[in-house]
Amino acid sequence: MDTQTKGFNTKLVHAGIREDAHGSVVTPIYQTSTFAFRNAQQGADRFAGREDGYIYTRIGNPTTAALEENVAQLENGFGATAMASGMGAVSTVYLALLNAGDHVVSTDSVYGPSRGLMEKHMSRFKVESTYVDTSDLENLRRAMRPATKLVYVETPSNPAMSVTDIRAAAEIAHAAGALLVVDNTFASPHLQKPLDLGADVVLHSVTKFINGHADIVGGIVVANTEALHKQLRAMLVNLGANMDPHQAYMVSRGLKTLALRVERAQENAQVVAGWLAKHPAIAWVRYVGLPSHPQFELARRQMSGPGSMIAFELKGGTEAGRVLMDNVHLAGLAVSLGGVETLISHPASMTHAGMAREDRLEAGITDGLVRLSVGIEDLEDIIQDLEQALARVH
Ligand code: PLP
Repeated sequence: MDTQTKGFNTKLVHAGIREDAHGSVVTPIYQTSTFAFRNAQQGADRFAGREDGYIYTRIGNPTTAALEENVAQLENGFGATAMASGMGAVSTVYLALLNAGDHVVSTDSVYGPSRGLMEKHMSRFKVESTYVDTSDLENLRRAMRPATKLVYVETPSNPAMSVTDIRAAAEIAHAAGALLVVDNTFASPHLQKPLDLGADVVLHSVTKFINGHADIVGGIVVANTEALHKQLRAMLVNLGANMDPHQAYMVSRGLKTLALRVERAQENAQVVAGWLAKHPAIAWVRYVGLPSHPQFELARRQMSGPGSMIAFELKGGTEAGRVLMDNVHLAGLAVSLGGVETLISHPASMTHAGMAREDRLEAGITDGLVRLSVGIEDLEDIIQDLEQALARVH
């Protein structure tokens, strides 16, 4: 079936499925490292690109291809490449699109390792970077240099929940001859489509909403042109951070219910965020769906819903955070997010612990900041769990 013209939910369920001789309703796991050629000529034709077909699983595999085609359609992109992890996707993007002497401007509150990889490792290959609060476009404009080749935006960002105007960021990047890459992990393609807003490349940690069941680590990159897609894929093939077919099967399985999961979790999150905002132990709540969020109007324009990620600061700071996390029972005390289960974490001591405290505070990741990934459990149970744990916090 041609799913290109179909709706989002139809694409989720049907896009990319490989037909086989048995009429399999889903693409099976092609658990094979390599694919035999009929004869030498066919081998030569496949390597030369004269014939479509598989060669070797690091280069391509039908189970992985099914997932890639599905996500490419969800993001309205030209093509997608799946990786072993979200960081595999980030590193492939950096290595494919940057050269020595290039400069990058990025969101200051990006996922910690995305910044660490750039500042600690890409710098060794003479790539320079500047981290600014990209929710204020003036900061982005000021940070652009003649050598800027990439603008890398995470929106909403992890964990500060700051929102960047994708359309405006694309205009600024393109006017300077740079590409715009958007990490769309927090929103998922159900709520935000960066390529439609002018981005050139979009990436995900599929570990999160796309897979949605906390049982797989993975990443994916979607490009808006054939040239960029080929460039990214060529890098991945050499880098070897490819997704495994079993992993791809699991992700495809989880992906089918993305819209249902995201909508249910979002409904819960909207109520939980409002409830937290009134709680006496809480200094402030940062949720894209509350009018108190600094980019509430922008988020309403560029996202079709606020999602299910909430950040909040306890009045009692770090110690209060520790007490809260030691006393929740339903919410899992774990990093990661976007699964069916509610998870709670403390970025300053976990995901962003590797960041200098000064940079962390500048990026809005305060000592007492708590990140909540609201799941699809019963709303009353989520609130009751937080209520009894917050009662111990003073
Ligand atoms: N991007 C964002 C926004 C993330 O939250 C994460 C992980 O938490 C990553 C990238 C990296 O993904 P992975 O852990 O799958 O390597």
